[in-house]
Amino acid sequence: MSSPVVTRFAPSPTGYLHIGGGRTALFNWAYARHTGGKMLLRIEDTDRERSTADAIDAIIEGLTWLGLDWAGEPVSQYGRAERHRQVAEELLAQGKAYRCYCTPEDLEAMRAKAEAEKRPIRYDGTWRDRDPSEAPAGVKPAIRFKAPQQGETVIEDAVQGRVVIPNKDLDDLIILRSDGNPTYNLSVVVDDHDMGVTHIIRGVDHLTNAARQTQIYKAMGWRVPHMSHIPLIHGPDGAKLSKRHGALGVEAYRAMGYLPEAMRNYLARLSWSHGDDEIFSTEQLVEWFDLDAIGKSAARFDFAKLENLNGHY
Ligand code: GLU
Repeated sequence: MSSPVVTRFAPSPTGYLHIGGGRTALFNWAYARHTGGKMLLRIEDTDRERSTADAIDAIIEGLTWLGLDWAGEPVSQYGRAERHRQVAEELLAQGKAYRCYCTPEDLEAMRAKAEAEKRPIRYDGTWRDRDPSEAPAGVKPAIRFKAPQQGETVIEDAVQGRVVIPNKDLDDLIILRSDGNPTYNLSVVVDDHDMGVTHIIRGVDHLTNAARQTQIYKAMGWRVPHMSHIPLIHGPDGAKLSKRHGALGVEAYRAMGYLPEAMRNYLARLSWSHGDDEIFSTEQLVEWFDLDAIGKSAARFDFAKLENLNGHY
């Protein structure tokens, strides 16, 4: 028997729950409900300067207004930093990562050289094979992941299809900064693994991260979760949706008199469809929701449609 579905919504608490976040949460929730699984909530609060308690409250309020619930307590990613460091050390011990003693000046020189030669900026692997006894005194090392140099990394994505990324395009990523702080891709992999996440549903802007994350899963010998990278949402002018288009936090629509049912229906249809059905109940959404019906092209936010839908509830 295959294990029950575990999805997660993993917002960074740097502002309110925006339309795109609301849709990602809804899809994770609907898929978990549809399969009889569960959705978890992880607050990705590792950016200490930009993460705020107010944003955490706003996200939780937005989810609650939308009627989306999750299993257990929200998990703080920052609170798990020790575990992330432990995994970085494990990769190091297994020879799948190494200490990098490059100074900011070394990295700057690498960047300048790449720019002058008009090629992408990539870490050149200086410390991959270099003997650590040659390390300059007083430099605190970062830990870099030894990314495979040959071949390709393949992501079998339920929305994007088979995505093939040549490994030569992915350099040796820093997984632990010299100040001891883990970086995003390491933290996400360790958390998803430890939380038992089976299905990752998130924005397509995370596709390159997905390749890096796949490499880390494989290095750890962990199972790579099933992935669905959903399209971006554009404003009426075709540019990425932002405040400039009048898009507000999900919860702000409550004050404007919108009903959560209408909002759910609207968010679901931003890149998912069920035949020609335009108006459906949440029960129908849960019954019908499946990942292979998520479209690949960018969705368009249309205020008039939301307005129109609201009239039906
Ligand atoms: N925290 C990330 C974001 O808000 C999401 C990471 C993920 O879903 O893996 O964009």
